[in-house]
Amino acid sequence: MQKKGVAILGSTGSVGTQALEVIQAYPEQFDLQVITAQSNAKLLIEQAKLFQPNAVVIGDEEKYEEVKDALFSEDIHVYAGAQALCQVVEFHEVQVVLTALVGYAGLKPTLAAIEAGKDIALANKETLVVAGELVTERARAKGVNIYPVDSEHSAIFQCLVGEFHNPIEKIYLTASGGPFRGWKADALETVTRAQALKHPNWSMGAKITIDSATMMNKGLEVIEAKWLFGLKAEQIDVIVHPQSIVHSLVQFEDGSMKAQMGLPDMKLPIQFALTYPDRLKTNFPRFNFLDYPQLTFEQPDKEVFRNLQLAYDAMHAGGTKACALNAANEVAVQLFLEEKIRFSDIARINEQIMEEAPFVPNPNLEDYIHVDAHSRKLVGLLKI
Ligand code: NAD
Ligand code: MG
Repeated sequence: MQKKGVAILGSTGSVGTQALEVIQAYPEQFDLQVITAQSNAKLLIEQAKLFQPNAVVIGDEEKYEEVKDALFSEDIHVYAGAQALCQVVEFHEVQVVLTALVGYAGLKPTLAAIEAGKDIALANKETLVVAGELVTERARAKGVNIYPVDSEHSAIFQCLVGEFHNPIEKIYLTASGGPFRGWKADALETVTRAQALKHPNWSMGAKITIDSATMMNKGLEVIEAKWLFGLKAEQIDVIVHPQSIVHSLVQFEDGSMKAQMGLPDMKLPIQFALTYPDRLKTNFPRFNFLDYPQLTFEQPDKEVFRNLQLAYDAMHAGGTKACALNAANEVAVQLFLEEKIRFSDIARINEQIMEEAPFVPNPNLEDYIHVDAHSRKLVGLLKI
């Protein structure tokens, strides 16, 4: 059997390190070609020594010497800077690129990988939020598959196996509701960084953890689903399911509903994205119904968690609206993590930038780049 050549963009993060665990567990399946990190040189070096990829990229150019020196005696190419990400994904030996980096930074390398004909295992949802139309159009043109890694989208994808010819009536994306489920708007005003960083069911990177607490994450996922599965906004519903056991559902035109279930563990969707259509045997803990005598479902509160509504609004508006929303949100989340704004300011900033940012109805790549940069600048000019 031929091993699959894999590049992992963002190997030092939450998804990236779990992807490496998957690769380590199945050495006969995978040939790790490339790993990359933005600033965690120490972990990148450790990973490179252990996994012996063909190449590594450190995003922060100031850390190039450190990585280069540490890997001096290894047979590993070392590159630095954002541009290098777009080059390493093109290597001949790479068949699939796992986009496990966070934020808008995923857009250009994902497009580069698609142009080079590489399949994408997509964790980096922001890429589809920013430029879903362009990215999916290029993937179609190039005959490239985009396999979802996000657990909800993997669930939908798993429900669709054997059903790709059957139209979807609608999908339900499940949401844990985050640490502030059931809270009222007043209470959210005084939420601290530490409170927001405590997710009830998943351990993830800081940005997505804050996005989960504001429900922006679910909003981003709604837009991600639109592009991955070719759906209209009306076909995508969100249902809060605090136990995070049902990972999402598809409803078909005969009224039948299929759900994918299991204990929350990102390794499963990561692995399925890399091995589809095969399932590999694992020893992950199994779900036991009797541990969960009740699975519950409730309506999300789009008034208190305004970001979810904003994502629907952006999806309806089309064009560059979601790109502006994403840019505003990335900056706002960073400001909140630096304790410079309040938790409730995040949605306020997002809403204001969606109104003020330039809008391009039929954007090309340059338009997305421009709207992203402009929206970020606008956040800096707001009086908060
Ligand atoms: P993380 O913060 O833990 O890791 C991010 C990785 O990307 C790190 O390796 C970091 O070095 C790299 N990176 C950060 N900024 C970069 C930049 N500007 N350029 C290049 N590389 C950069 O994040 P995460 O939680 O692993 O999430 C990664 C992506 O996967 C996000 O888009 C997130 O929404 C999505 N996702 C994550 C989970 C999860 O369980 N963590 C689940 C579903 C989807
Ligand atoms: Mg998710």
